[in-house]
Amino acid sequence: MKTPNFSIEFFPPKTAEGTEKLRVTRAKLAELNPKYFSVTFGAGGTTQQGTLDTVTEIRREGHDAAPHLSCVGGTRESIRAILNDFKANDIRRLVALRGDLPSGYGMGGEFRYANELVEFIRAETGDWFHIEVAAYPEMHPQARSPQDDLNSFVRKMQAGANAAITQYFYNADAYFRFVEEARKAGVTAPIVAGIMPITNSTQLQRFSEMCGAEIPRWIRLKLASYGDDTASIKAFGLDVVTAMCERLLAGGAPGLHFYSLNQAAATTAIWQRLV
Ligand SMILES: Cc1cc2nc3c(=O)[nH]c(=O)nc-3n(C[C@H](O)[C@H](O)[C@H](O)COP(=O)(O)OP(=O)(O)OC[C@H]3O[C@@H](n4cnc5c(N)ncnc54)[C@H](O)[C@@H]3O)c2cc1C
Repeated sequence: MKTPNFSIEFFPPKTAEGTEKLRVTRAKLAELNPKYFSVTFGAGGTTQQGTLDTVTEIRREGHDAAPHLSCVGGTRESIRAILNDFKANDIRRLVALRGDLPSGYGMGGEFRYANELVEFIRAETGDWFHIEVAAYPEMHPQARSPQDDLNSFVRKMQAGANAAITQYFYNADAYFRFVEEARKAGVTAPIVAGIMPITNSTQLQRFSEMCGAEIPRWIRLKLASYGDDTASIKAFGLDVVTAMCERLLAGGAPGLHFYSLNQAAATTAIWQRLV
């Protein structure tokens, strides 16, 4: 099989120990030769320096890396300063998002939605950046309807995004249907599937409730039946997620983006089964 186009996401570590641990993780994952690494950005700019530091360190090691940039709570001036920082560091790609402020913060800021951020980036920096945006095959949790969410996605692409990465899901049909609808709505850019390996049932449940990703009943019940048996959870997760990745690639997904959670083992195991 031809090596699929794949990328790996990290979050910026908050401690010296986390930074060291991520270096070890990264060295292992770099052996898989991903197209690029991406590094998340805390909404409201909370990880701004950590994101840039992690991205520049990865690039110094000889790998391509993309910072995420979320606009919620930001002003045109603050976002402009960040873009200038990225440019000054010769960063050529980024993932543009609205982001979510923690509850109690209100929205504030000068950007309401990610399409406004994409427009602003293009107006400020022309074609300097390759821009990726987020897509939601199972609908973003705040969207009024699937059609409204699709319309928002199309607006984001039309604002100048080059490609999209989806929220994770465990139902390949939701992805295929979303891509088909996006194509009918005129989106021709690649829509890369976001993949969350399954290694920990409690954590997965918590994330999924927050971001609106559905864990199918049969997967949820299987995971629950393993209790604290983490070896069985990981083995089951590896089988299920690998089978889904195989289906996605066979069905035409242009690439896979792994949410690594700064861990190497699960992404590596899935990857090795795929190639
Ligand atoms: C690949 C990926 C990477 C991510 N990385 C990060 C990260 O680094 N940092 C972070 O904080 N979060 C990150 N997130 C989470 C993301 O910020 C949240 O899902 C957030 O709630 C939405 O961001 P968005 O860019 O998709 O927003 P948008 O595209 O702006 O959509 C947000 C909501 O608003 C609706 N909407 C959009 N435009 C309009 C409009 N004009 N009128 C009415 N409704 C509208 C949409 O339907 C949707 O419900 C990531 C998500 C993904 C999938």
